[in-house]
Amino acid sequence: MLTVLSCIAFEHDPLFVFLAVVILTVGAVLTMRLYARVRRTNGSLKYMWLLLSGLIAGGTIWSTHFVAMIAYESPFILGYDLGLTVISLIVAVSGATAGLLISSVTRSSILIEVGGLVFGASIAVMHFIGIEAMKVSGILTVSMPYVFASVVLACVFGMLATNRVARPVTRYCKYGAVLSFILAVASLHFIAMAGVDVMPLRLDGSINDLVSNRLVGIAIVFTMSVLMLSAMITYSIDSANAQDADNKLHHVAHHDPMTGLPNRRALDRYLDARLSSITNDNARIVVMNCNLTRFKEVNEVLGYSGGDALLRHVAKCLSEHLEQGEFIARLSGDEFVIVGRPVYNRGYILEFCKRVQKLVSQPMSWRGKDIRVGCSVGYALYPDHGSGGVELLDAAERAMRRAKVEGGNAALCYDEDKDQQIRDRSALAMDLRNALKNDEFELYYQLQNDVGTRAVTGTEVLLRWNHPKRGKVPPSQFIPIAEENGLILEIGAWVLRTACHEAAGWSAPVKIAVNIAQVQLSDSKFPGFVERTLKRSGLDPARLELEITETGIIADTTHALQIIHQLKRLGVRIVMDDYGTGYSSLATLQAFPFDKIKIDREFVKDLGRNRQSDAIVKATIILAESLDIPVLAEGVETEEHLRLLAEQGCNEVQGFLFGQPMPASDIRFLVSGLAAERLEDNIPREAGKISLVSQVA
Ligand code: C2E
Ligand code: MG
Ligand code: MG
Repeated sequence: MLTVLSCIAFEHDPLFVFLAVVILTVGAVLTMRLYARVRRTNGSLKYMWLLLSGLIAGGTIWSTHFVAMIAYESPFILGYDLGLTVISLIVAVSGATAGLLISSVTRSSILIEVGGLVFGASIAVMHFIGIEAMKVSGILTVSMPYVFASVVLACVFGMLATNRVARPVTRYCKYGAVLSFILAVASLHFIAMAGVDVMPLRLDGSINDLVSNRLVGIAIVFTMSVLMLSAMITYSIDSANAQDADNKLHHVAHHDPMTGLPNRRALDRYLDARLSSITNDNARIVVMNCNLTRFKEVNEVLGYSGGDALLRHVAKCLSEHLEQGEFIARLSGDEFVIVGRPVYNRGYILEFCKRVQKLVSQPMSWRGKDIRVGCSVGYALYPDHGSGGVELLDAAERAMRRAKVEGGNAALCYDEDKDQQIRDRSALAMDLRNALKNDEFELYYQLQNDVGTRAVTGTEVLLRWNHPKRGKVPPSQFIPIAEENGLILEIGAWVLRTACHEAAGWSAPVKIAVNIAQVQLSDSKFPGFVERTLKRSGLDPARLELEITETGIIADTTHALQIIHQLKRLGVRIVMDDYGTGYSSLATLQAFPFDKIKIDREFVKDLGRNRQSDAIVKATIILAESLDIPVLAEGVETEEHLRLLAEQGCNEVQGFLFGQPMPASDIRFLVSGLAAERLEDNIPREAGKISLVSQVA
């Protein structure tokens, strides 16, 4: 008697043995990869991947078995029964598919291992049908203990294979899964075959319908190669697509879509890596914050498309000409951060700043115009101004803000003391966000008086912020911040609403003048808001004056003019505030239908002492007279001021001479006094002009 195994070990065709090993290894790798893909996929695509993995797994099991058997050059093996051979293939494919299906329908339950068991069992069933298909010239006997041991091992390794893919502990578990598959097939084959005995006999009967060994072998290897190649190509295409999508996602997450430059997230990562790579204590790294100057104007004049084009142009100039080891990112709006390479001398830092400023100022051609901007630069040094990315970026930003205030394309290094002011401003900006909600604002009212009669002609509404910790914060400190962060829209709306309701409740029809910021005026909804506020408060529109400054209308004169006309149609009066401090062009005065001009207090304070101030006040009054616009002078503190203004023909005044800005309760009291006086006098008066006030002030 001869054991089949001993014959396989000693009498074999090395080519077919090699092919069996290759098929099993490649098939195992492919099957486990595809099985992992099945687990990662949902929907109908999952079943497509499952079908492919079942085909590859079943094909691998089946072809390994047959190629290994064919490798055996035994005179006893006559050939294979075609019917049973086909059945064994069907069993291998369907069994493997069923096993993989069961183990992939769950995320973490025991079904993972149950599927693996079915997978292992299908290897065993296929194997024994394959043995049955083998026609030998002798009597073939099978030893049951071997059969049992081989089936158990196939099932255990089958379970291990699915388990390693579905419950990985390290990234090497996928190799464990491949090895388990190989061991499931190999252990079953060798142990089961070790229990097979053939008693040589001369067989009679027909063996005509048996297929030749080598022919079957070649056909199997060919079919399997095509199948595996197709699966490999499919899997590679899928992996390449997934990688491509992954790269795109990564790019989107780390880059600014408009300029294509790295974004804040990428910058943080870069800085972390860059700082941790520094090993030399003497090395310095410069982190520069670069903010474009006049970008707002470019946006206003060229529109957002022009602004975007400029940002792209600056990004291109910078990124294309930076030197090796330098890194650029766009944070937001017109803010760029550039990180220098590690340096040991300060000369590089100055050269770096100059180079960046020169690159930013490269002119851009836009629809026939040459656009050129500059930039304010602030920089911080590692490790002097911070040991981490966040600290350095923060310091560079503060230095940039100081450079912006200084103007003229300054490049400043972070300075703790000097940047404290900027820090205060940021803290104030944060508190400002809660000020409205916490009811911390209050309105004060300052009288406006007729120059000749000294009668009250109106009041200017002035905003006050009662800060819970800092006390009263003057508007000159918080209005620019509110204008910068857009909160002025909300605050301005509150001022107008509160002032209209307050004035509507007064016992005499005194006028109110409310300051309007540029952003409010450029908002197309503003006239509608004013109309609603007047209606709701019941205030006569003739009692409302809106004070606007020249800077508020210069950005987009056409739009501002439209809004002003709409406001005037409501019956509201428009006043030009702070005259003399802006462009103060004759054209502005002619183009805009102002109802009053307010000369800034800067010129009034030196009246009689400074010839230039005298000249400006005089010229303004003459000009206004010729345009038929009344003039009010602000900042009138002395009788001398009043006398000089009266001489020059000024109509109204506002200043400490007649009173400091006062809270609502005081103005209410004062107005009620004026109303009573008016009743006593019983003299009909012009609307808004009531009594003498010098004694009240
Ligand atoms: P403004 O509109 O020119 O207001 C006049 C400023 O001159 C007020 O300062 C007022 O207190 C001050 N003043 C009045 N008379 C005299 C005087 O005789 N001598 C001196 N030295 N100063 C005098 P205030 O209240 O600090 O307001 C400053 C600026 O803040 C205002 O200038 C205005 O531009 C802005 N502002 C105030 N309230 C608001 C508001 O509700 N909205 C907006 N957008 N801006 C406001
Ligand atoms: Mg004003
Ligand atoms: Mg003013």
